[in-house]
Amino acid sequence: MKNILVINAGSSSLKYQLFDMDTEQVLSKGLAERIGISSSALNHRGKKEIRIVKDMRDHNDAIHMVLDALVDPEVGVLKDLSEIAAVGHRVVHGGETFSASQLIDENVLEAIEENVPLAPLHNPANIMGIKACMAAMPGVPQVAVFDTAFHQTMPPRAYIYGVPYEAYETYKVRRYGFHGTSHLFVSQRAIELLGHPEHSKIVTCHLGNGSSIAAVQDGKSIDTSMGMTPLEGVVMGTRSGDIDPAIVKFIMDKEHMSIQEADSYFNKRSGVYGISGVSSDFRDIADAAQENNARAELALDVFAYHVKKYIGSYAAAMGGLDCVVFTAGIGENDSAMRARILENMEWIGIEMDPWENDKRGEHEITKPGSKVRVFVIPTNEELVIARDTLRLIPKA
Ligand code: ADP
Repeated sequence: MKNILVINAGSSSLKYQLFDMDTEQVLSKGLAERIGISSSALNHRGKKEIRIVKDMRDHNDAIHMVLDALVDPEVGVLKDLSEIAAVGHRVVHGGETFSASQLIDENVLEAIEENVPLAPLHNPANIMGIKACMAAMPGVPQVAVFDTAFHQTMPPRAYIYGVPYEAYETYKVRRYGFHGTSHLFVSQRAIELLGHPEHSKIVTCHLGNGSSIAAVQDGKSIDTSMGMTPLEGVVMGTRSGDIDPAIVKFIMDKEHMSIQEADSYFNKRSGVYGISGVSSDFRDIADAAQENNARAELALDVFAYHVKKYIGSYAAAMGGLDCVVFTAGIGENDSAMRARILENMEWIGIEMDPWENDKRGEHEITKPGSKVRVFVIPTNEELVIARDTLRLIPKA
């Protein structure tokens, strides 16, 4: 039996899934929340579902609670921790150092540390998760899977910004892109569904709380909407997405904001939440729009327009388009938003089938014979991490 534990450590949370890789089934999953804050708790689903409220001072405490739950006779799914073959970690920023997943050793850990300036909130949490697992499970191989790695195939014309080149040379200011595991997973599945053509031009739309679009040509990412940070690209739940950079100074002046306040303004108070004034959740916004809330309707309209523009621009970048994929919370579930995005795109060869669009799960939503095919493909970032981990660990 090959069991792989997948860890996604945030600054105050730690999500996990345990896979049996013989069947790729999830044996157990859960979330440790409010780590290092008061009233921390572990929500665990194994043989049973439980919530344990207990102080977790740091990620070490959290990992120990997770491992205890996994081998607990009542709620666990393992007899012994030795049944875990390896641990796969989601790491947000691999910078330019990593273009693929890595078996973690001292050098890899050091390189992840070197990339902390590029993701000051995320990478330190990921490092804490890795170190805690190494301490709790000595000798068990650990693998790092980077959100940025899939996009390292972008050519310079896609990743260089129009700022002094020294900013790139000195500080590594460039486009990196995120959601790489998701874009990789759904684009590979789309290539399968297309029948493994020799060449393929695919636009993958990962639309969730954070959203990003990628242009995937012949299986490789050649451009993506998120940038050096996840703030760039389409308008998101609470992030502004693409704006005129001069707006930052303008708002800071007008509202007498510090840099931290401005950061929060564009990351947490903007997006469809900022436009609608209702919520960052598309279900709430759609409900409000139904009740004739004009700003909610506007927020949906702006979002759909941004996604449509990216699809069109990436078709231009690739010199054609074979397929569009929708995934993540909105992409998989919000058929009305998909229809809004694809409206009037017959000119590019997309003929949507409204009947198919209303179905759920993995399916095609274009009519037979549509020149460009559109698929809904549920993403599974944890499974990609587990597969990569299995691939990289020494064979038993
Ligand atoms: P994250 O980026 O946090 O992983 P998800 O991919 O889970 O986010 O997407 C979350 C978003 O998906 C929610 O904010 C919500 O707007 C949207 N969503 C989820 N289910 C539905 C649904 N049935 N209809 C419309 N929107 C949905």
